[in-house]
Amino acid sequence: MDKYIGIIGGSGLGNLLAEHITDSQLLVIDTPFGKPAAPLLAGKLGGNNVLFLNRHGDGHLLSPSNIPYAANIYAMKKAGATAIIATGAAGSLSENIHPGQLVLADQFIDKTFRRQSSFFDNVAAVHCEFANPTCDRLRTKLSDAGKKLKIDIHNKGTYICMEGPQFSTKAESMMHRAWGGDLIGMTAMPEAKLAREAQMCYVLIAMPSDYDCWKPVAKGTDKKSLLAEIIGNLSKCSENAIALIKEALGNNGGFCDDSCGCRKSLEMAIWSDKTKIKQHRLEKLGVLFE
Ligand SMILES: [Zn+2]
Repeated sequence: MDKYIGIIGGSGLGNLLAEHITDSQLLVIDTPFGKPAAPLLAGKLGGNNVLFLNRHGDGHLLSPSNIPYAANIYAMKKAGATAIIATGAAGSLSENIHPGQLVLADQFIDKTFRRQSSFFDNVAAVHCEFANPTCDRLRTKLSDAGKKLKIDIHNKGTYICMEGPQFSTKAESMMHRAWGGDLIGMTAMPEAKLAREAQMCYVLIAMPSDYDCWKPVAKGTDKKSLLAEIIGNLSKCSENAIALIKEALGNNGGFCDDSCGCRKSLEMAIWSDKTKIKQHRLEKLGVLFE
């Protein structure tokens, strides 16, 4: 089967990247976890085979809690993706991360509580290593592409994923800063966990659109101009993220690399007695083991 690089577009990016994909066709894929947020767009970008998925679905109808993360990742895997480049809007929790810059998140704190976060519920006890939740190899490739393009980009950052859909209170925002968070968002989890369980490389380009509510807004800023600023930052981030992905895919190659550690995450992860696991349940998850 052909290998693909999966690209997940979040708020801000949405379907914008789809316009850059050539020789494209839509793949309607079903999974044991239901339908993904949208059909996958298969095609070429920078000479690579890519699969694109709009995380929030057509018309941005799916809220972060309602995104079918398991179906999204499973569909990508089933269609041949071995690596995922994800994008997502975020709020900055740090003085050093300015809205409009890009951040390649390297750590997560998961505060979500009503999403399916494992493929193996009711199948077996499976515990994947997750100390380093994103792929170092892909982060380096994207970071190198960023340097070449002179894009304002941070090579690491701790992303706190909250359930939402409401934004944080000030007290929560201060707490997230005290925890060491650099970014707050609502969608990278459990996506990154599921990608790890699916033995795929995963990298997140976070797009901070504003400072979270810990930072008082400048006096005299009204809601309208604040919103315009946020939209402006997000479109700058999206433009840069698209350029970054195109550059990385065009020049760096080797995004799909079966020797990467992420691709062997299930090797030592199954703690159940394999003779006692219900085989038909495991077979249902067959593609995860590829
Ligand atoms: Zn990897």
